[in-house]
Amino acid sequence: MPELAPSRLDARLEAELQEFTAAGRRRQRRIVDSACGRTLTVDGRQRLNFASNDYLGLAGDPALAQALAAGAQAWGAGSGAAHLVSGHLAPHQALEDALAAFTGFPRALCFATGYLANLAVTPALAGRGAAVFADKLNHASLIDAMQLAKANGADVRRYPHNDLAALERLLAASPAATKLIVTDAVFSMDGDLAPLPGLFALAERHDAWLVIDDAHGFGVLGPQGRGSLAHFGLPAAPRILLMGTLGKAAGVGGAFVAGSATAIDYLLNTGRSYIFTTAAPPAMACALAASLRLIGDGDARRRQLFANIARLRDGAAGLPWRLPASPTAIQPLIVGDNQATLALAQALWERDLWVPAIRPPTVPQGSARLRISLSAAHTADDIDHLLATLKELA
Ligand SMILES: *Cc1c(COP(=O)(O)O)cnc(C)c1O
Repeated sequence: MPELAPSRLDARLEAELQEFTAAGRRRQRRIVDSACGRTLTVDGRQRLNFASNDYLGLAGDPALAQALAAGAQAWGAGSGAAHLVSGHLAPHQALEDALAAFTGFPRALCFATGYLANLAVTPALAGRGAAVFADKLNHASLIDAMQLAKANGADVRRYPHNDLAALERLLAASPAATKLIVTDAVFSMDGDLAPLPGLFALAERHDAWLVIDDAHGFGVLGPQGRGSLAHFGLPAAPRILLMGTLGKAAGVGGAFVAGSATAIDYLLNTGRSYIFTTAAPPAMACALAASLRLIGDGDARRRQLFANIARLRDGAAGLPWRLPASPTAIQPLIVGDNQATLALAQALWERDLWVPAIRPPTVPQGSARLRISLSAAHTADDIDHLLATLKELA
């Protein structure tokens, strides 16, 4: 083979990557040499893990690995096709039925990932003649879904974070025949909750759909971990579509959307990121069915998680950084300055504590932070150790 000349296309990308480096925005991955759990092994050292979304400590649970292995033995490695072709196997259906029963909705539809679930819902419901109203701090997948709806002719508006009055003004001013309110239930960088009762009341008053992304509430909040709707005592109303991810508290992977039988059937018929992708391996559905049982029986895990949250919040009161109100496993310690945040994360890392630094543009300018993710897998000693180290570094 003759030597290939370097491509000018590549050179352009390389120049841009250098700009990322110069701006301190170049991303890289760390290779983890252990299963997801209370600690993660990197570069031969065990690090205390405050960087996963494994809120109930299920990702490394042997019972789920067992269910996954048994599922693979019974159903093979792959599903072979998309759900609408021949890839919808009995374990997929059983999982959907279990998720519908668990969330209280008539029907649920499983997706390969939460990103794909969100990408399906908004564009399926909102095209020409529709309007989408989205919280400013919604997850990137909801923003991308909104852009797809816009490309299809929908009018899209973003309202200030959790601002019901601003949202009501936008709803009242909109002549659209179909309206969609789209929100995270638990905001992923701040851990705060959306005012779901107020949003539901507005949806009722303006005859709008309410699309809720419960990625961080499912399994954690509400009785039996049934999620944010249950936390607020809201009904599984026909105008609500509830999305939950299954790779966070549920510890496996995938996602679902629950709603009325009609809405789910419509999504199954029109959701492009549902239709044009291979169904997840059926063994994952087997593992998830087991996970759903552990979540339902998981009061002890949730007690431990909420004790850890309270312990961290109490202890952080003495630190020089702000810890905004968050009742969830996501605890944002606001440092402010980008470099100072990176230096703090690095100092923790050198002490075998893995806490990710989150910087703009992921969060607003001047609000760079440590995003501390807590889990039922943490002990009180783990929380104390993190607090003591932060105090020492302050
Ligand atoms: C993680 C996340 C998603 C995406 O879910 P995946 O299953 O990881 O693709 C969607 N929305 C929110 C709020 C999330 O945090």
